[in-house]
Amino acid sequence: MKIHNWTDFDNQLDNAFRQPEAPVALKCPTCQAEYFEKVKIGRYMAAHSVIPGQDLNEMSPGTFILLRCVSCQAMVEPKTVLAANDPAAKPYRLFIDELKKSGTGNAI
Ligand SMILES: [Zn+2]
Repeated sequence: MKIHNWTDFDNQLDNAFRQPEAPVALKCPTCQAEYFEKVKIGRYMAAHSVIPGQDLNEMSPGTFILLRCVSCQAMVEPKTVLAANDPAAKPYRLFIDELKKSGTGNAI
């Protein structure tokens, strides 16, 4: 990169000090473990009659994915981006509140 002006000079200086970005593993906030299992959590219809092996009837808006620490079993909420008009946003917030109340989401 050739230097034509001060901005070029600044950019080159910034690049020299910038560390290459390596992916960082998520750590459990409770026990610092790095391994999680993905848990699919949802609400299901109370009056369900299914053939063994058949999928269960989910309530709208479906299921949420959380991470459960394999070491301490704490439920960890992934970083979420909730759009303003996302129909799943409110049910998800209610679910997280319920998890906090029950104490199983102690890392959330
Ligand atoms: Zn943990």
